[in-house]
Amino acid sequence: MDVDTPAEELASALGVDKQEVKEDLESLLGYSVPLEEAKQSIRRKHGGEGGSDAAQPESVALDEIAPGQSNVTASVRVVTVGTRTIQYQGDEQTIREGRFGDETGTISYTAWQDFGFEAGDSLVVGNAGVREWEGEPELNLGSSTSVAMAEEPVETAAEIGGDSDLIELSPGDRGRNIEAQIQEVETRTIDGRNGETEILSGVVADETARLPFTDWDPHPEVDAGASCRIEDVYVREYRGSPSINISAFSAVTPLAESVAVTDDAPQLPLAEAVDSGGLFDVAVVANILEVRDGSGLIERCPECGRAIQNDQCRVHGTVNGEDDLRIKAILDDGTATVTAIIGSELTEEIYGGDVADAKEAAREAMDKAVVAETIREELVGGSYRVRGSLSIDEYGANLTVADFAGDDTDPVARAQAVLAEVDG
Ligand SMILES: [Zn+2]
Repeated sequence: MDVDTPAEELASALGVDKQEVKEDLESLLGYSVPLEEAKQSIRRKHGGEGGSDAAQPESVALDEIAPGQSNVTASVRVVTVGTRTIQYQGDEQTIREGRFGDETGTISYTAWQDFGFEAGDSLVVGNAGVREWEGEPELNLGSSTSVAMAEEPVETAAEIGGDSDLIELSPGDRGRNIEAQIQEVETRTIDGRNGETEILSGVVADETARLPFTDWDPHPEVDAGASCRIEDVYVREYRGSPSINISAFSAVTPLAESVAVTDDAPQLPLAEAVDSGGLFDVAVVANILEVRDGSGLIERCPECGRAIQNDQCRVHGTVNGEDDLRIKAILDDGTATVTAIIGSELTEEIYGGDVADAKEAAREAMDKAVVAETIREELVGGSYRVRGSLSIDEYGANLTVADFAGDDTDPVARAQAVLAEVDG
């Protein structure tokens, strides 16, 4: 849009510098203020008391900010502040990120330098950029952005500070604080940016949920069984479920009282669980339609644990395969199907024997497939209550089973039991 002509008209009408009017006009149009409204607000700025002290353009409401706008000025309340180091154009850079709020809603932000603000501060942010992040507008605070304390507190409905129950966390959350029990933890060595690095990974729980975590800068307080307050974590998606990330900027404080944890996983229809994109801990009640090939007595690569055939691992080549038991079963509850992956311990219970028993049965029948056949007879057609971790990838929906039990609330099983009694 040509702003020269309206800027010139306006400047001569107001008797002020054209360049200044033009910049204000461009800035207002930049955040989608209609031309007439923009001209009016510039008239107001230069009219009345004849003062030109209010050099700031008017603040825009957070729910009016859209990707593609620039030079945005907004009055905001700092809801959360997280600190993180990222790789940016080959350099390690420390950024601040979180959410700002006002009366109309909240917006996420990334600050490329430390402006020194904290959660709860009321600010006027000037000349911020807007970019799109995960489909939503995000304010970008760079070297040309100004940050000043607001004269009055900015009201927002958002809860200040980032304290969160685990169930509230979603991928993309930054600057959150949790209080949780460390249920499982293991040390792992990874090939990081700076060579081999030790990290911690495991599971945390509170009264609302259990979630996986990674501590990228191992804190000694993150210890199995400990209850901790962990400030400034960020949340990423891991196999479709939220995963907590603890960094060098996180503060971990042991709690004197242990955090109560949930024993239950949310029970969902399969379709809902699959639609969620993956869940770390979910319970379903479903029928087993089929026990798939690759069940029963199988061989695994001793290096990586992958299931192999004919002593060939696709990563490690020819290896001496180790015998193991597992089940891959198709679960269906009428809303969707998933593949349940049942590990050796539960498979032993279902099969009613261990690897040695299975090998013995296979030798007698001169056919490994008899093991899967026994399992098939045991499981197919029954209804089960299954709890585990659901992941969705290009190969489909897989539920890695942690708990497995016959479902005593199954109507068919109940009906059959009743019939059996009647017949008896
Ligand atoms: Zn292997």
